[in-house]
Amino acid sequence: MRNINLNLLVLPDNWLARADAAKAAVVAGDSPEDHADVWRDLKHNLADLFPDEKCWYCETRCPRDDNAVDHYRPKGRVHEAANPHNGYQWLAFDFRNFRYSCRYCNERRVNVKGDTAGGKADRFPLLDETKRVYNEGPCDEEQPVLLDPCDPTDWKLLGCKLENGKPCATSQDEIAKLRVEESIEIFHLHHEPTCKARHAEAVRFVQLVQEAKQLYLKIEAELAGQQRFKKKAGEILAAMDRSTEYSGEKHFLLRAERDTNHPWIQDLLEA
Ligand SMILES: [Zn+2]
Repeated sequence: MRNINLNLLVLPDNWLARADAAKAAVVAGDSPEDHADVWRDLKHNLADLFPDEKCWYCETRCPRDDNAVDHYRPKGRVHEAANPHNGYQWLAFDFRNFRYSCRYCNERRVNVKGDTAGGKADRFPLLDETKRVYNEGPCDEEQPVLLDPCDPTDWKLLGCKLENGKPCATSQDEIAKLRVEESIEIFHLHHEPTCKARHAEAVRFVQLVQEAKQLYLKIEAELAGQQRFKKKAGEILAAMDRSTEYSGEKHFLLRAERDTNHPWIQDLLEA
């Protein structure tokens, strides 16, 4: 996961007026689904905010898959709500509530082979259910459990295990761990084929870092080594660029490689 800046979203001409009209129609009794074309028409604009049409939740590249516009706060009903909830219908046409998502993260499904299940659907747990908002109004008091790629810092809470590509928390903080564990299940981030792909990327990436470390330690003794090291450092930057799959997890793996002998790692993390 990486941070997505929704402020950079480009809206088509007249889209805001269409969204307002759809919202009014829903207040008058229509279902949000009756006006699904309004959010679907933003799909490509949303996809453009992250390279290669990657899913904002899992960073898997699915250019041929029929990716969807997910409503971060569900528009239909809310699975975890303590009282009957019709969904955050007033946010159904608010682009700030839209997330570009693959179908594995967005739709509930069971992976029989790997014995995992997940998919967001109508899930939206809160840290404190008593703060749940039921009617149109600000949601600032709600503390979502699900990691949000549009939050500037949430993405850094999610990492992966080098040994098997399974997602994991990067922090020992109890609330952060709870949020990551719930997000893994609800976004189906532990889906076996995704873990395999993430594992392969992670292993290749850490191998690059090890090679760079070896080159770095030889620089003093061998001046020509400086160029070889710089080239390798450039490869590391490219390998964890936002355009690559699982770049957030690779960022986490590089953070784990920091030590006093290798100050260059911090420079790359800040690059
Ligand atoms: Zn996904």
